[in-house]
Amino acid sequence: MPNTQTSDYYDILGVSHDASDSEIKKAFYKKARQLHPDVNKAPDAEEQFKSLNEAYEVLSDKQKRSQYDRFGKVSGAGGMGYESVDFSDIFGGGFGMGDLFSTFFGGGAESRANIRKEGRDMGVGIRISLEEAASGTKKEIAYDRLAPCETCHGSGLGPGGKFVDCPSCQGRGRVVTIKRTILGDMQAQSTCPDCGGTGQIITNACPDCEGQGRMPDRERLTVEIPRGIHDSQQLRLKNYGEAGMHNAPSGNLIVTVRIIEHERFSRDGDNLFTQVTINLVDAVLGGEVMVDGILKGEHIKLKIPAGTQNGDVLRVKDKGMYAFRKESRGNLYVQVNIAIPRKLTKHAQDLLSELREELGQSPAKEHRVDPHKAKKKKKVGDRIKDALS
Ligand SMILES: [Zn+2]
Ligand SMILES: [Zn+2]
Repeated sequence: MPNTQTSDYYDILGVSHDASDSEIKKAFYKKARQLHPDVNKAPDAEEQFKSLNEAYEVLSDKQKRSQYDRFGKVSGAGGMGYESVDFSDIFGGGFGMGDLFSTFFGGGAESRANIRKEGRDMGVGIRISLEEAASGTKKEIAYDRLAPCETCHGSGLGPGGKFVDCPSCQGRGRVVTIKRTILGDMQAQSTCPDCGGTGQIITNACPDCEGQGRMPDRERLTVEIPRGIHDSQQLRLKNYGEAGMHNAPSGNLIVTVRIIEHERFSRDGDNLFTQVTINLVDAVLGGEVMVDGILKGEHIKLKIPAGTQNGDVLRVKDKGMYAFRKESRGNLYVQVNIAIPRKLTKHAQDLLSELREELGQSPAKEHRVDPHKAKKKKKVGDRIKDALS
């Protein structure tokens, strides 16, 4: 057995013990290209290539890697605690590449006739807060897809390989079979099983993807979510779906954005609704309170008109959500709750008694709210309450 079989997996890949998954993957692809027995004619190239695969199988698998780090021959502490991507579905689990691809492509050459060359659309979901929806945000996502093969850059071609006309169908993609019947010979056409109907085969297929031009991979990307996005709205990321075969067009990634319910704000279109508690005197005499807006660090001065009633809804223009991909904002509606003091100093009691007398002496019609108006206002309040509940 050559020495490479027993040496450190990290040394075989030529990476440090704290190498990231992508570093390990890159190193593997680079070395695999150099060591592939079809390219490298050195006597031990094949053994080295096997060792390389073995090292990658272990180090690309979170569980296997941490096991190797702890119990392997090298007792380095590196690699522990690293966030890892599970590539075990690519090489691990005791399945050969052939098995893997048959699960992806549905078996042998017969069923390849039905595979489409274009990649399919894929879908993922992202949950964000209302604040993130208000200001726009970036989210890291990870998902598994068939990605363009890095070894052959999606072509499916191995070293020196090229597409040639399929000898079974002479490049037509279809084969003609003749059936003898009592009415004579009948011609029937079917998709060529050897080239899957493409009319072409590869003389030397890429060893990693077996000529498919795509490989199962874990994709990590940053999704930019524009401000003003609505719940359940979908974003389309072109070409981030399933990769096409042999550089045929890839599918799209459809990202569905869900917005987590907010405890202080509710939303209707681009408008926001919230509540604020003010004191009795501000309600009677009028005043100002500060309300936190939906944007980070946004403090909104809310003017309380004199004679504000409990449940009144005040409108603050242009302090709602940004309209999607626009500069304009919806409104903020603030429902007012008036806090009645539970405890009063003697002095405050005296002042209020004085006030009662004052109001008692002069009923002061102008201080009373028109009952018709008050009723109307209450209706708006109920509407907001409904919206808030
Ligand atoms: Zn390939
Ligand atoms: Zn053919």
